[in-house]
Amino acid sequence: MQSDKELILYVDDEEKNLDSFKVIFRKEYNVKVANSADEGLAFMEKNDVSLVITDQRMPNMTGVEFLERIYGLYPDVVRVILTGYSDEEAIISAINKGKVFRYITKPWKKEELQQTIDYALDAYRLRHENKELMHKLSKANNELDEFVYRASHDLRAPVASVLGLINLSKEEWDVTKLKEYVDLKEKSVLKLDSLIKDIIQFSRNSHLRINTDEINFEELVKTSLDSLKHFQAAALIKKTFDINVKSPFISDQFRLEIILDNLISNGIRYANLDSDEPMLNIKIDSDQEKAIICVSDNGVGIDHEQKDKIFDMFYRGTDDNTGSGLGLYIVKETVDKLKGKITVKSSLKEGCEFTVTIPNQVQQ
Ligand code: ADP
Repeated sequence: MQSDKELILYVDDEEKNLDSFKVIFRKEYNVKVANSADEGLAFMEKNDVSLVITDQRMPNMTGVEFLERIYGLYPDVVRVILTGYSDEEAIISAINKGKVFRYITKPWKKEELQQTIDYALDAYRLRHENKELMHKLSKANNELDEFVYRASHDLRAPVASVLGLINLSKEEWDVTKLKEYVDLKEKSVLKLDSLIKDIIQFSRNSHLRINTDEINFEELVKTSLDSLKHFQAAALIKKTFDINVKSPFISDQFRLEIILDNLISNGIRYANLDSDEPMLNIKIDSDQEKAIICVSDNGVGIDHEQKDKIFDMFYRGTDDNTGSGLGLYIVKETVDKLKGKITVKSSLKEGCEFTVTIPNQVQQ
């Protein structure tokens, strides 16, 4: 069965040939006809054609010349020619130059032409899929290159800083100074640890298959909040959660942990501790279809121009240099893996609201 989405253009200067082609094939395919090469080219300028079938003998431009033009303009379009035996030489040369996919001798039989159309459309689909895969592969390759380059640079920085502080400590006898160095070393090691955690999350999300666990949201949120106690700011923020589960929710526990941990830790790290009551709220509603996870805070917020960039790899909106700039990128990649969506609403100095929607994997 052919998809009616792919458009076939048939070009012939004889009206009766156009009519019979239409009558024979219009049920199976999405067919358009043109009675000259110029009309065909004009049509292709405005429409996405997958396959062109043309007669060889036409006034002004032969079929081969027409297909050569198309080859130059739309190289992905599959090209088929209908011809009498006397045109053999021109056709063979066009086929050898890769300008024509197949030729059919006239008078054609329906079955033969139909088989050629099916092959041609398959070839078109394969080319199309191939192109998309190449595009994805090259994007993934570029991202990986950038990732390795940036990650190794960011891993080196805290190590270099600790080594420098160790050297200073060796020469230092003043206890106050030594304590200061220990604090700085701790800061660098924590940074290193958090970056390594991000890299592990990134790699596990890319490689591990998707699990189907029954999710206990309350436990997930409590564990995530517990793991953030080491942030000094955490104690100063009022944390509330509201979880409303209507039916069992099946998804990948590890990936949901990644999402919640990152959104919750950002809510704490970007709190506005000068405000009257810094707060972080987690609201989760789930039913048979989906879970909606909303993490909101009244922290420093994100300004309008940054909103499109915060999900980019290594993007940091502040220059305090504490984060890796990977958190939201990993969240976005993880949400994509679970076939979900993430949106953000925010205004500077007023706070942020991240909403994640994840489909329920429960067998319906
Ligand atoms: P990191 O926090 O390590 O810099 P993220 O990818 O987690 O990296 O976040 C990217 C940027 O988005 C942050 O640098 C910050 O500017 C902004 N951001 C993320 N979450 C929040 C939030 N809850 N409140 C304010 N800004 C945020």
